[in-house]
Amino acid sequence: MGSGHAGPLSGPPPGAPLIAIDGPAGAGKSTVSRAVAEALGLDRLDTGAMYRAVAWEALARGIAPDDARAVAELAAGATIEVGQAVVINGQDVTSQIRTPEVSRAVSVVAANPAVRRALVKRQRAWAARRRGGVVEGRDIGSVVFPGATVKVFLTASPEERARRRGGDEPADGVARRDRLDSTRSASPLTKAPDAHVLDTTGRSVEDVVKEVLSWL
Ligand code: C5P
Repeated sequence: MGSGHAGPLSGPPPGAPLIAIDGPAGAGKSTVSRAVAEALGLDRLDTGAMYRAVAWEALARGIAPDDARAVAELAAGATIEVGQAVVINGQDVTSQIRTPEVSRAVSVVAANPAVRRALVKRQRAWAARRRGGVVEGRDIGSVVFPGATVKVFLTASPEERARRRGGDEPADGVARRDRLDSTRSASPLTKAPDAHVLDTTGRSVEDVVKEVLSWL
């Protein structure tokens, strides 16, 4: 089954809320998804951390990010845990996946359809094992969970997004990543037709979370 097909696991288990949070880098996905998960007592899955972990593992093994076959093989065979810590093949890479090297390589790795298939399968299995959850990424409402209870597409002004990311990634790096993520052919960053668009520019986390909860 391709990642673009809505299978039986593409929605939440019956009665369990699944909240999909998508948007470009710096739109506030991590902060908002963490706060929404806490407010609802649900687990949260950062799917970007999964793509970052695969990119890190490729670099660590000396595999070029654009070596599609080798990276796909690595993604299909790896054990990946994404919770408080990010662990790939038994190694804790929580801080390493935020380095500039990984940020530069991750969009190429994420554009690989076979890598996406391997990770989407795990993302659906993650949700199927739980009574709901909050999942953040780029294609969660559009491809991974088209049957999500609520879909949110976060945006923010370019200035605000650059300011938020400023600490760990230069503005031109963020812009390049967004361009690659939005123009790739496999599951590009896109707003699902039924997603609520929420501009977080100048708004408090509490205010944004309140609005998301009002859609449940
Ligand atoms: O969310 P974060 O900025 O950490 O994501 C890192 C990268 O992972 C993105 O720039 C994108 O290339 C990829 N990604 C993706 N699909 C997702 C989540 C992240 O392609 N669902």
